[in-house]
Amino acid sequence: MIPLSALQKFRESLRGQSLCPGDPGYDATRAIPNAMINRKPAIIARCIGASDVIACVRFAREHDLTVSVRGGGHSVAGKSVCDGGLMIDLSAMKGIRVSPAQRTARAEPGLTLGEFDRETQAFGLATTLGTVTKTGISGLTLGGGWGHLHAKYGLALDNLTAVDLVTADGRLLTASSSENPDLFWAVRGSSGNFGIVTSLRYRLYEVGPVLGGGIFYPVSKAAEVLRFFREFAKGIPDELVIQAAALTFPDGVPVIGVAACYCGAILEGEKVLKPLRMFGKPVADLLQVRSYLEMQSMFDPFFPPGRLTYVKSSFLRTLNEEAIETLAQYANSCPSPYSFAPALEHWHGAVSRVGVTETAFPHRQSSYNFMAWSNWENAADSEKNIQWTREFAKALEPNLIAGSYVNYVSDEGEASARAAYGPNYDRLVALKNKHDPTNFFRMNHNITPRV
Ligand SMILES: Cc1cc2nc3c(=O)[nH]c(=O)nc-3n(C[C@H](O)[C@H](O)[C@H](O)COP(=O)(O)OP(=O)(O)OC[C@H]3O[C@@H](n4cnc5c(N)ncnc54)[C@H](O)[C@@H]3O)c2cc1C
Repeated sequence: MIPLSALQKFRESLRGQSLCPGDPGYDATRAIPNAMINRKPAIIARCIGASDVIACVRFAREHDLTVSVRGGGHSVAGKSVCDGGLMIDLSAMKGIRVSPAQRTARAEPGLTLGEFDRETQAFGLATTLGTVTKTGISGLTLGGGWGHLHAKYGLALDNLTAVDLVTADGRLLTASSSENPDLFWAVRGSSGNFGIVTSLRYRLYEVGPVLGGGIFYPVSKAAEVLRFFREFAKGIPDELVIQAAALTFPDGVPVIGVAACYCGAILEGEKVLKPLRMFGKPVADLLQVRSYLEMQSMFDPFFPPGRLTYVKSSFLRTLNEEAIETLAQYANSCPSPYSFAPALEHWHGAVSRVGVTETAFPHRQSSYNFMAWSNWENAADSEKNIQWTREFAKALEPNLIAGSYVNYVSDEGEASARAAYGPNYDRLVALKNKHDPTNFFRMNHNITPRV
């Protein structure tokens, strides 16, 4: 129990708003896109600057409160909302300053991808972010950040050059390759385990228009399409990023699609994409020249907030015949028309030229990231969808590596977090012992300190 006077004093000390159960806006603020998550923090602090974040950390320490940190709220595991503790909501911190001369952006953690892209594209610039515009830049970047530019420019975290973060003892530090380099190594991939990031500095590149979109086939052709996808992926240049997914069109037709984004010269892109356009008999070919912003928002209609979501994900060892058979079998038995299952991201190029231990993010060498991304609308269908998703991942298990990309997993516990950080886990534990020995930041894919 927090003494009322202390709570009052804390609330008054903040520049931003705070909300407790019963306050207008409390329920809307604790809600996140995944409707599976229904947690009730004792307090929500809507921070508007680093000083608010520092005040939150000190208050939570003093009163021994569980803390969760919300960037864009898109963690499918719902890590941004705690039960009964202090939810530190950064989503009102949306400042951004783009320097076209230096090709950098200094951004606050409450920006969504769409907001960030819009500001950088005003100067014809961009950096790698994800593929759905409402996702938050900070959770995405601190966990990894795979998107349409990753093969040319690396993951979002590969383009991070500095962060400001509030540590577990309430200090505001800068971390970069020259200041606190151990923390800078750790924040790039460890998903909020080391502090609350209040500012992120990114490298930018000239980007757009792109040649992109999707090409779709009947889902009954899943095995043929995946075989083609594998062969096509072998020779593609860094300018091209592709992914394949089984989904259902809004008119109810189940399809398997290959999405593509070519970020180089359009004429060259047309040549590179020709084999994809010549393959089979598509039911729709939506590949065309688009603005980068249009490309980045292409998947938005498929991910409205308020659906229930459960995800299993891991990297494939290889996309061999056995894996293709399993993927095709489950593509044809998905119980929900809102799911992307299976979805396969192809990872290549710049991401794989960074060493496995150069940042905390280890997944640099696997070419295919598998997801069974299940979405459905009614809680009554939860058991059926969760069970199907688990069965799918189980059936594919012999072809999967042990570790997953932390940004894609529903809650799986310590063993899964350990596998996700792979060969970097021990170094991360040593740094956690040093910077957060009481595991103050634990609403994340957690690195448990050993002290
Ligand atoms: C519809 C959808 C599409 C997606 N598409 C992609 C994609 O294309 N590519 C990709 O790589 N990922 C994608 N993701 C996964 C996404 O990267 C993760 O869900 C990511 O965690 C979202 O970040 P967020 O800030 O929105 O989430 P939040 O839930 O707010 O945060 C996620 C985690 O990061 C921590 N965190 C957030 N902000 C901070 C901060 N400033 N300081 C410290 N810790 C912080 C939180 O505490 C939490 O543990 C997608 C997710 C969804 C739901």
